[in-house]
Amino acid sequence: MCGIFGYIGKNSNASKEVLNGLRILEYRGYDSWGIATKTNKKFVIEKHVGKIDEAKTNSQFFDLLSTLSIGHTRWATHGGVTRENAHPHLDCSRTIALVHNGIVENYEEIKKQLVKRGHIFHSATDTEIIPHLIEEGMKTNGFATAVRDAFNQLEGMNAIVVAYAGSSEIIAAKTGSPLVIGKSKDALYIASDASSILPHTKNLLFLKDNTMAILGGKVEILSLPEGKKEKVKFETVSWEEETSTKGAFSHFMLKEIYEQPRIIRNIAKTYKDSVLDLAKTIKNAKGTFFIGAGTAAYAGIAGTYFFSKTAGKHVNMSFASEFTYLLDFLTSKSLIIALSQSGETIDVVEPLTQVKRKGGTIVALVNTQGSTIYRMSDKKLLLGAGIEQAVASTKAYTAKLSILLMIAYAMKHDVENASSQLMTTALEIERILKESKKLKPIVDILTRSEHIYVIGRGVSYSSALEAALKIKEITYIHAEGLAGGELKHGALALISKGTPCIVFAPNDETYQSIISNATEIKSRGGVIIGISPKKEAIFDHWIEVKDCQDAVSIAQIVPVQLLSYQIAVKKGFDPDKPRNLAKSVTVK
Ligand code: GLU
Repeated sequence: MCGIFGYIGKNSNASKEVLNGLRILEYRGYDSWGIATKTNKKFVIEKHVGKIDEAKTNSQFFDLLSTLSIGHTRWATHGGVTRENAHPHLDCSRTIALVHNGIVENYEEIKKQLVKRGHIFHSATDTEIIPHLIEEGMKTNGFATAVRDAFNQLEGMNAIVVAYAGSSEIIAAKTGSPLVIGKSKDALYIASDASSILPHTKNLLFLKDNTMAILGGKVEILSLPEGKKEKVKFETVSWEEETSTKGAFSHFMLKEIYEQPRIIRNIAKTYKDSVLDLAKTIKNAKGTFFIGAGTAAYAGIAGTYFFSKTAGKHVNMSFASEFTYLLDFLTSKSLIIALSQSGETIDVVEPLTQVKRKGGTIVALVNTQGSTIYRMSDKKLLLGAGIEQAVASTKAYTAKLSILLMIAYAMKHDVENASSQLMTTALEIERILKESKKLKPIVDILTRSEHIYVIGRGVSYSSALEAALKIKEITYIHAEGLAGGELKHGALALISKGTPCIVFAPNDETYQSIISNATEIKSRGGVIIGISPKKEAIFDHWIEVKDCQDAVSIAQIVPVQLLSYQIAVKKGFDPDKPRNLAKSVTVK
């Protein structure tokens, strides 16, 4: 998690450069933030709790003349959300400033030793030991060697960016978590993702794990732990700088919901060749697994239904964080399809490292070109959803479903059929979006509720899981997604008068059974919100989603995305940055 941004260059307003970078990275962590800027051979620090635009920033700080600054938006793992715990952290001499992403697993031992040596700590973070460790090293070594030695002592998957007041260099090192370096005519940038550098340059270097980089007059890359010089290879990325503005929309989430028809149409039209190629890979594999976390995992569940029904093929699905414990039976013929918006999700990266050791094939279905999962995969297919800024995923989810449906149809050489279903779905989503105001009475009911149940069968079971997740993430209402058949095995005990229940009842083989489940809920006083092409008498409220054949799960999630959004806004929450969450989950 967390966003790191560093600047070193000719512009004498380095702190503003970093502030602008952090604004783009804030989706990665936003409980607190801070910047260290070097001026007159010392660091001046600005730190705040909360989001960047909520802070009363010290304008003098941003007027300081400086050509070197590093900054951080935090997602706390160790130590509460306080100003003291916000990064950058300093050593005792206040000449080493450092920002960090990850968890130093052995920080307690190191801290004890440092305290014995007289180091004084001001925060409860694991991070703060690192500048002190570098300070120790600098008693006998130069800056770069001290950073390398200190970093080599850290356990866990970490990324650091560090500056020293007596040097005009920024040094970065990583064993995990992304870092990208950008080189323009006048400056070098280092950041947690490319989107924050793209406004300045498309000339990028994605730093590999177990390397360190020295950014000064030029860029040097060294291997870790040894410190051997490596080739410095920048690549010019072809991505258009995507707008990080909300445009006419009040939130990124709403903008991203509205982008879905365009993205789905694009997949329908332009992914035919790539999905045929992937279908071949899947046919040749002995055992295929989808892995993902959160929304991506639910897309994987939908994928298992697509493959079973359309391609007659069994695909396993596992939550990526659990896959680590299910790897024993993998062979070199196994195929793992990794689903991830960011391409950085640590829970996905970890098992993939083990898959690689076993010689299995990895296919990445990710949204971010150049990301860790993208780079470690044998085959890759980008989601093509464009940068997703809101923490709660919407367009990356429907893009994943659209691609999985295309692949399933490609397995039976009928990709045109999938493409035309997606075109119909895009039209239907446009209609749903146009009618979003009609959701108001349902928004009013749900806003007052403490619990919401969501049920579906077949592929709509995955819709139920994703719908409940959207509601939880941004409205903070307890929501539970269930397979319709599971209701009477437990959750029915929780239904009482007025309990709202969203029922996905598409025009497919699940229709009669799910209506029976809805009736069971209604008989216990539940309020039924039916999402269906037909207006059933037992629905207290009806949200129409026309028949989209096998693509129905793509269309029917959209009203729940809208409901969640509208409830969050009504409750006064920021739907883009829900509490306790972050977009790119790079810690375990
Ligand atoms: N473990 C560090 C902390 O809690 C870094 C967290 C982050 O990656 O934002 O401060």
